[in-house]
Amino acid sequence: MQPTRRQFTKKALLAAAGCTALAQQLFAQASSTGYTVRKGDTLGHIAQRHGVSTAELRRANRLSGDLIGVGQKLNIPGQGAATTAIASARNPYLVQSGDTLGGIARAHGISVGELKRANNLSSDVIRIGQTLHTPAIVNTTDLLTHVRAATAKIAVRRDNWQRIVVHHSAIKYGNAKKYDAAHRRRGMQNGLAYHFLIGNGIDSGDGEIEIGSRWTKQLLGGHLKSYQLNLSAIGICLVGNFEQTQPSKKQLAAFTQLMEWLQGDVLKKKIQFAGHRELKGEQTICPGKKFPLAAMHARYD
Ligand SMILES: [Zn+2]
Repeated sequence: MQPTRRQFTKKALLAAAGCTALAQQLFAQASSTGYTVRKGDTLGHIAQRHGVSTAELRRANRLSGDLIGVGQKLNIPGQGAATTAIASARNPYLVQSGDTLGGIARAHGISVGELKRANNLSSDVIRIGQTLHTPAIVNTTDLLTHVRAATAKIAVRRDNWQRIVVHHSAIKYGNAKKYDAAHRRRGMQNGLAYHFLIGNGIDSGDGEIEIGSRWTKQLLGGHLKSYQLNLSAIGICLVGNFEQTQPSKKQLAAFTQLMEWLQGDVLKKKIQFAGHRELKGEQTICPGKKFPLAAMHARYD
């Protein structure tokens, strides 16, 4: 059995081989501003007002629950690199048979140098079972601000969503508007088949998360062949043909931020993660052989 990322507390993180320096540096870096709790405040409202998630706010203040008191001083985490670095530091990757440093780096959209620095490695030698930190989202700004704001206005059907399925669009062009039109032409009255679309810098921003109306209206997806699966699966699509090219570093950063926010803050449960082709009866190569599906399973299973 493999430890889940939730089991990695700060203490465990600091104790883990090879990442001590990184973890200490990250925790020391976390820039923050202060806020004094007033009457009527809830953790959720304070988080929302400062554009951070409640989980981030809890982490910044070492709170285990939502209980706060009037007059209590809270650290409001900054939205920059420090916050996201902490998030990524909580995502250890367990080296598997056949892994190489180059392969792991590529799969996480970082360079071998970045991976070695993050783990204080002096050589390229790694061993099976070793824990590596994969700082895919270090130095990447928060890509979720607008997604959080849009989601704060709706009632998420938490109990309904049982899995998150990742897709590629299979073409290098397109954005939410264009795919929405295409899907309507194909007879989908709810338009864009996915709940979220992550751009590649051509027709929308690189790593830009576009929110589909199926998310804001909490409607079933149209991204799977099976109607039953569509009822309970959140669909995230990355623009690109990942049979031919890899997703960009920013697309992967956006994807991991979105995944972690959905599981940790929105649904507050660990739900099944799958690549489209892994679902029974779907007969597809989606999301393409160059999408780092194994690395994502290591993070989210
Ligand atoms: Zn697909």
